[in-house]
Amino acid sequence: MAVNGRQRIVVLGGGSGGLVAATRLGRRLGADHEVVLIDRSPEHVYMPSLLWVMVGQRQPGDITRKLARLEHRSVHVVQAQIEGIEPHRQEVVTSGGPVGYDHLIISLGLQPAPEQIPGFVAGADHAWEMGAALQLREKLRRFERGRVVIAVPPGPYRCPPAPYETQYLLDSYFRERGIRERVEMTFYTRDPAPRGPSTDPSVWMDTQARARGIGQHYSYFVESIDPEQKVMHGRYGLDVPYDLLFMIPPHRPAQPLIDSHIADSLMGVRVDYDTLETRWDNVYAIGDCADMPASKAGVVAHQEADVVAHNIEVTVTRRGHPETLRLHTM
Ligand SMILES: Cc1cc2nc3c(=O)[nH]c(=O)nc-3n(C[C@H](O)[C@H](O)[C@H](O)COP(=O)(O)OP(=O)(O)OC[C@H]3O[C@@H](n4cnc5c(N)ncnc54)[C@H](O)[C@@H]3O)c2cc1C
Repeated sequence: MAVNGRQRIVVLGGGSGGLVAATRLGRRLGADHEVVLIDRSPEHVYMPSLLWVMVGQRQPGDITRKLARLEHRSVHVVQAQIEGIEPHRQEVVTSGGPVGYDHLIISLGLQPAPEQIPGFVAGADHAWEMGAALQLREKLRRFERGRVVIAVPPGPYRCPPAPYETQYLLDSYFRERGIRERVEMTFYTRDPAPRGPSTDPSVWMDTQARARGIGQHYSYFVESIDPEQKVMHGRYGLDVPYDLLFMIPPHRPAQPLIDSHIADSLMGVRVDYDTLETRWDNVYAIGDCADMPASKAGVVAHQEADVVAHNIEVTVTRRGHPETLRLHTM
């Protein structure tokens, strides 16, 4: 694949992990080698701020940047749908044709899959994607009184603490609008009830929520939603009526990772926990699509991207020493 010693490093996905990896590789290797970033979208959305879009404190343009800006950092940006990966041929299949690589970084995130819960699409709202956040913003603006239920389904999803953040944010939102006393708020999660000292983060979050008058319910497993009756059905016949249901959608690996048998499970692609190497030569997986014993969070994706970009640089230039991952998270 390498032509005249010029190697091609392909980064799949321009989200948190892919952006960091491509930027670093473009800066270090872009002049002598080829760094290519492929994403179906022309834009990067900074997802942590989707919650602020939901409550009207940010506009879409505030949290969106064109990926083409990376061209100034010696990164060639390709807008295309990734359809598959063929590691034995060192090729990515895209809607624009095949793209060969010498080194491949997969950072395709996790895909929201609301359809996995019967009734979700018609009965629940969320803010885990831009379109959904804008739709919910309009519903919230019209909401005057009633039962607001915030719920977390089983399975992995982007950013485990974000639903907790959501309940505080909605509490403030209703207070600022002067309607909080007309809104009953409850939180349902599959997580077990927190135990331990008051400084433990999950105990602290529970205390904060109760102090705001938000009912906390643990070990709750949603099974389906009835949009007509406005009831969330849980395992063991635990039914919860609502007027507005905010539920984190279930997530699954990106379609090309499933179709190409690259993802090993719902958690993503199996990787070496120290180096993010997959079982294929010169193929790495980072961020939410990597099956790691760590949160599916941007802060994790960023640190993984740094390590992988560094190690590819060492391999390509034959200078320096490889690093292993040292995660710094809460
Ligand atoms: C509401 C919310 C709040 C959050 N808050 C925080 C926070 O406070 N702190 C934190 O650390 N993290 C937070 N996160 C999580 C964080 O955003 C993700 O963990 C992070 O974006 C993962 O990065 P990634 O590169 O793995 O995947 P992503 O950022 O999801 O990027 C994946 C990219 O792949 C592209 N893609 C996928 N499939 C295809 C395909 N078939 N073809 C072409 N392109 C494709 C997508 O378009 C996307 O650009 C939050 C997430 C949400 C939704």
